[in-house]
Amino acid sequence: MELKPNFSILKTLTELPGISGRETAVRQYLQETLSPYADSVRTDVMGNLIVFKKGTSDKNLLFCAHMDEVGLMVHYVDERGFLRFVTVGGIDPRTLLAQRVRVQTKNGPLLGVIGTKPAHITTEADRAKALGVKELFIDIGLSGEEAKKCVEIGDFAVLDRPYEEFGDGLVCAKALDNRAGVFILAELVKALKNPFYNVYAVFTVQEEVGLRGATTAAFGIEADLALCLDTTGAADIPGCAPQDYICSLGQGVGITALDARTITNPVLFDALKSLCRKQHIRYQVRVAPRGGNDAGAVHLSKTGVPTCGLSIPTRNIHSNVEIVSKTDIQHTFRLAYEAAQNGLKDVIL
Ligand SMILES: [Zn+2]
Repeated sequence: MELKPNFSILKTLTELPGISGRETAVRQYLQETLSPYADSVRTDVMGNLIVFKKGTSDKNLLFCAHMDEVGLMVHYVDERGFLRFVTVGGIDPRTLLAQRVRVQTKNGPLLGVIGTKPAHITTEADRAKALGVKELFIDIGLSGEEAKKCVEIGDFAVLDRPYEEFGDGLVCAKALDNRAGVFILAELVKALKNPFYNVYAVFTVQEEVGLRGATTAAFGIEADLALCLDTTGAADIPGCAPQDYICSLGQGVGITALDARTITNPVLFDALKSLCRKQHIRYQVRVAPRGGNDAGAVHLSKTGVPTCGLSIPTRNIHSNVEIVSKTDIQHTFRLAYEAAQNGLKDVIL
């Protein structure tokens, strides 16, 4: 089964705003586009979107892909109209300087530019220090009076960057973490026809702030096994040693062996690798002692669920210039599709 990739859907998904706790635009888009393909669609109290497709067996397979992205929240508007902010999810402040954002106000988005004290009035010692969010501000080009009328404390500011394809089949955009996973899961919902498993495709909320949506979503579903689609850091860049790459772009789907929140069930881990070999799906094994994703919450749900994270390698993760490979997306899709459509029947989970 080849994914007929309509990457314009990935473009649409990355350009929607959806910081943790404000995933509404992404959820609405998915609800509208996936309803015709689903047996049922519902949203739970947390805001997770749960799309169900009936299978031919009595086993339940739970897929997760988190809809939320990292971003900023305004916590102060100063007398001259500059906005001070906190980060929502893990963002390295060094990646924020000189970037554009869209402040999500009650009257619609406003362009903002992130600035700091310019180099020619700082000392060398100042510049040698790592930049923190306290040294940064958002300039929305308005006076204090106007800014206070438009922007409220608690408004979110989304990183702003158009989706672009470049290089050898690569994509650069904001929010590829995790719209790349959302894209694969959405395409999967469309592609599956009478799958072996009853498939629960769950588009979760608030992963970036502690796997919060997945915690309640998994609790509400009697899953026999689970696969979590998410991006992972690819440190295959200058300055990093090969043993520290975690994953590399273009080397296929990252099948998680271990991360900070999970150690994959050995039967499921082996079954996924052997499925890849059988179907000529390119894969790499992901060992990420400092990362985590929805799998961390899902595998501890109820009395435990065999769970594996399927990861899309991503350079510059949690910045607005995240980079993924379209080939890796295709291999990740194929593995998810084969597992759900035909079942991991040679293993007893
Ligand atoms: Zn993620």
